Parts: sequence; C-alpha cells; structure tokens
Amino acid sequence: MDMKNLVSLYNLDSYEDSNVKLAVESSFCKFNLDKIIKPDMKVLLKVCLPYSVLPDSAETSHPAIVQGVVEVLSDMGAKCIIADSPYKNYTQSYLDSVYFKTGMLEVANSSDCELNHNLKTFSIDTPNGVQTKSLTLLDALNDVDVIINLGKIKLDENLGYLGSSANLFGLLPGEMKTLVLNRMNTIEDFNNYIIDIVDALKDKLIFNIIDGVVAIEAGNSQRMLSCLAMSEDAFSLDSAIIKILGLNYENTIIKLASERGFIDIENPFETIGEDLDKFRLDDFALYDYDLNTQIHKNKRAQKSYFYSHQERPTIKPNKCKGCAVCSKICPTNAIMMKYDKNGELYAEIDYKKCIFCKKCYLECPYEVVKMKTPLAYKKLHKDINRFNKENTESK
Ligand code: SF4
Ligand code: SF4
Repeated sequence: MDMKNLVSLYNLDSYEDSNVKLAVESSFCKFNLDKIIKPDMKVLLKVCLPYSVLPDSAETSHPAIVQGVVEVLSDMGAKCIIADSPYKNYTQSYLDSVYFKTGMLEVANSSDCELNHNLKTFSIDTPNGVQTKSLTLLDALNDVDVIINLGKIKLDENLGYLGSSANLFGLLPGEMKTLVLNRMNTIEDFNNYIIDIVDALKDKLIFNIIDGVVAIEAGNSQRMLSCLAMSEDAFSLDSAIIKILGLNYENTIIKLASERGFIDIENPFETIGEDLDKFRLDDFALYDYDLNTQIHKNKRAQKSYFYSHQERPTIKPNKCKGCAVCSKICPTNAIMMKYDKNGELYAEIDYKKCIFCKKCYLECPYEVVKMKTPLAYKKLHKDINRFNKENTESK
C-alpha cells in the first residue's frame, strides 16, 4: 500500500473532545507518526485562523480538534506551537485578539503548547515555482522541526475550493495575502501559488488533517459533513474531499498538481477507515467555477503595509537592453515595455501588479533586474531586532 496517497476518514458527528483524540491517535499510529515524532521535537501546528471570529462560525480551526491533536502530540513528548496569520494586520495585539476569540488561547492554557508570538518573516527562493520564484513566510517555520497542517473545508465565493493545501496560504504574513491575491488573475494562478508553497515546505510538512465536521458550502452556509480526514499528502487529502463534495478535479487544484507531477489524477488517493460515500451530500451547494474564473480584486489592498515594505525588483531604464524577456514571463503582467526619448525600448514595473515573485530578477539575461529592500523595511527590521535584543537581555 502506498502510504503517500493514503487518506484516513473518520466519522465525527460532533466536536466532543474524547472522540477527536481517539480519531487522531488511531490515525497517527496508522501513519507511523508515533515513530516519526521524537521526544522534544518542535511541531508547528498550522491551524486555520483567517479572521477573529468565534469557533461556531466554522471559519476557523475548531478548538476541540486543535486540543485533540495537541494532546496526542504532547503524549508523544513533542512541543507544539500553534501558528497562523490572519488576513488583517500581522501584529501582536491583533494576533492576541484572534487567539482569544477563536478559542486558541484556551487550548494553550489547558494543554502543553505555545501560541506563536514571533512576528518576523523571511524570504525563500522557490526555483521550481510556476507562479512565484520567491515566498515571504512566517519566521515561526524556522523555529520548528516539522509542520502539521490543520485545515478546514470551505467553498469560497472568490477562490472556489479551499481545503488542505490552500490552508498553507495563511503562512504568508497578514495583509501580504490580500496583496498577492489582488495581483493574481485567475483561480489557476492562485492554485499554482498554493502548489509552489506546498513544494517549498515539503521537507518539513509531514502530515495534514482536515476538519470537515462542519464545512462551509457555497453561499457561506454551514453544513455538517461529520468528517475528520488525514493524510501525509495535502493533495491526496484534497482529492478525497473534492470527491466527497462532488466537484470535478478538472476545475480544481488537483488538475494542476497532476500536471506538475505532484499527484496521479487517475489514482489520487486510497482511503482507510470509513467509506467515502458515507460523507457525500447530494445537495452540498457548489459554485460554478473553473480554473479560468477571474479572481475579484480588492482595491483597498493597493495601500497594503507590505506594498511599502516588501523587497522588490527594480530596473534602471538606462541599463535595460529592451529584450522583453521579463515582460513575457511576469505572471501578473506587471512589466510594460516602453520607449525612452532616444527611441530605445526599456522595461518598467507597475508595483500595483507585482507579487514579488522574483521571476524577472532570475530570468533577465543581462542581470539588469535587482532586488532592493525599501528603506522603510530596513528601518522596521532594525527596530524589531533592537526590541528582541532588549527583551532577551532584560530576561
Ligand atoms: S515584476 Fe517581476 S517580481 Fe513582480 S510579479 Fe512580475 S516577474 Fe514577479
Ligand atoms: S529582461 Fe532584463 S534586459 Fe530584458 S527587458 Fe527585462 S530588464 Fe530589460
């Protein structure tokens, strides 16, 4: 049996704590996590906290599921850090309010785990990326040995199916998510970006759990699916859920993941546990979307914090050779070719469209594109470093 595409399905009719722990425990054993997780290993639990809302909204990871996972990992001797970044400001005060309202503070207080308070970010290059060649992610990822991804099942008015792999989009800090979304054109662009993230995290991302006890269907209504599903592979897990919801793979991330060699669309998963058909709801409300559907733009994101702080590509017109390579490969059409006063072609970047993917920087044959950090960003990081140093010294 191929463990990679194995998906375990459990029937959970409620968030009653003891059932959650039993389901997680037995699944962890089936996937040999009890052998992979070593005592004192640091595990980042990437929960789903996009907004500051109460647990019964079904928009965020339910505290009972998080508690169950934390307890099982603690029994194995692991140290858990609960982390996510909401859509709004990635600041201490906003994070605190999200932790409180979503029930994560209570989980941390009643079990042996931490809430992430590291507000730093870092950039990594993603040379195999299709939508981006660089990602800016939460620095908390560098504080841990492994990641366990704990997502929700939602159909989103703007983005279509959001499940296990899309949950990792929350690792982009705060408003950067809106900024990146605002500069993409289609659902295909978004899903390719998600695949780039999953690929970038493949060394640390060891397990995926999806809370489908209550899911969100089209029209933003809650539906009981009574399902808790787990897999080593985020795409296998998504393909099982997509099947349950009655969506067509051709219109979802599974088609792109298959084209990029991450999953076999003919045989995307095998199930253990409950029968998949048991969870199917014939009247689960769906959106009529496919991969070419346009993403609605949020104009307010133009003024994002990251717009003025993010490392960005720059092109000096007098150095540019006008070959247009960058303009052709830019995924958001952010680079226009213009004529200077001598009639020479040069490339100009529209930062309102740029997603800082670094493709132009990496592909310019004349190394004319440079990545530059705005002064405001340098000052901010100097302040954060000084603050961290002072706090460490005063302890
Ligand atoms: S301008 Fe460069 S960094 Fe920005 S989106 Fe286009 S290719 Fe990516
Ligand atoms: S690829 Fe480089 S040289 Fe060619 S147009 Fe773009 S910036 Fe200019």
